[in-house]
Amino acid sequence: MKKYDYVIVGSGLYGAISAYELTKRGYTCLVLEKRNHIGGNIYTEKLEGINVHKYGAHIFHTSDKELWDYINQFAEFNNYINSPIAIYKDELYNLPFNMNTFSKLFNIKTPQEAKDIIEKEKKESYVENPKNLEEQAKNLVGQTIYEKLIKGYTEKQWGKKCEELPSFIIKRLPVRFTYDNNYFNDRYQGIPIGGYTPIIEKMLEKSDVLLNTDFFENKEKYLSMGKKIIYTGPIDAYYDYCFGPLEYRSVRFETEVLNMENYQGNAVVNYTDYNVPYTRIIEHKHFEYAVSPKTIISKEYSSKWKLGDEPYYPVNDEKNSDLYQKYQELASKETNVHFGGRLGQYKYLDMHNVIRSALDFIKKEVE
Ligand code: FAD
Ligand code: UDP
Repeated sequence: MKKYDYVIVGSGLYGAISAYELTKRGYTCLVLEKRNHIGGNIYTEKLEGINVHKYGAHIFHTSDKELWDYINQFAEFNNYINSPIAIYKDELYNLPFNMNTFSKLFNIKTPQEAKDIIEKEKKESYVENPKNLEEQAKNLVGQTIYEKLIKGYTEKQWGKKCEELPSFIIKRLPVRFTYDNNYFNDRYQGIPIGGYTPIIEKMLEKSDVLLNTDFFENKEKYLSMGKKIIYTGPIDAYYDYCFGPLEYRSVRFETEVLNMENYQGNAVVNYTDYNVPYTRIIEHKHFEYAVSPKTIISKEYSSKWKLGDEPYYPVNDEKNSDLYQKYQELASKETNVHFGGRLGQYKYLDMHNVIRSALDFIKKEVE
């Protein structure tokens, strides 16, 4: 007896978009969620009139107009532009690396002066084929920026020395010779007014949703309830870790309500000194220009992950990529189970990547 066309494991963005697109076309969906709320890691919760990003700051950004229009059907977005501040010891800099950063670091004014200094530093430490993050970072920005703004933050974030980390991690950071503090190069950016949770609520409107329900507690029963399964949990868990667990990086969030209007004057402040135990402090009200006599901050402590902890960042190094490949081979043989999302695909996907990936899957599925 197949009660539903689809059983969807996980109510994060991937699961919710799948549910929305399928129910829109008349298919029936049951969504299982092991947490006590929907939304996965983009879940926001209102506290003291402020939408708190419960699992870390989420800024929507994309250059794809189609995706921007797609997400805007579920919410109106504000015009927030992410411009983090970096604090290193008692020095304060703008991010990403741009003329504001360089003028403060080197006491210069023009792009040519900045380029001369950075090019000189890059030459001094240049490595032909960068093999790790340290070599890659120095090739990109030279010694001074590496030491003050990259090394400590990255080693805290990943719990490994920069010499042991793959270079692709650092390719995400823009370097600009203009006075432009926009962290992203994307054409469209913002925060949904009212937070992310109402978006997911709308997507799940026509589905049956069971919270506090772990798929693995009754795997055979749930498998038998759907003609097809869309699984967005960790792929290794689905196969009972038969090749061993994939590695993740976890984060501990310490959230406090403060009896003051404005704590740090910016939504995101990164602490790039290794000796400060947290990587960054988020002050949630600045994402949405909220007016409140109180403020809410979250300190992010990057931490070692062990089985049972929330998996946040997949560690896409060679060892884990090889291991994922083995699980992926098993997954490719499945006829009625589809693996999607950041955990199902073991890939660091931003929200816009998740939407694209889910829409592509649904297109194939319903054609
Ligand atoms: P998830 O949100 O992880 O959803 C998976 C769901 O499955 C979860 O709700 C989980 O509880 C559920 N689940 C797992 N196993 C089971 C089970 N056995 N039974 C039932 N349910 C199960 N992206 C951006 O675009 N911009 C940002 O600024 C940004 N910042 C981020 C900051 C942090 C700290 C992190 C960790 C991520 C950030 N991201 C950001 C990425 C963004 O969170 C993801 O793209 C998105 O949330 C992925 O959605 P998903 O559905 O694939 O996964
Ligand atoms: N990074 C850094 N200094 C910073 C911010 C980021 O060196 O102040 C590096 C770090 O290695 C991090 C990577 O850039 O893992 C990507 O950072 P981003 O902010 O894009 O990642 P997020 O953690 O928000 O996904």
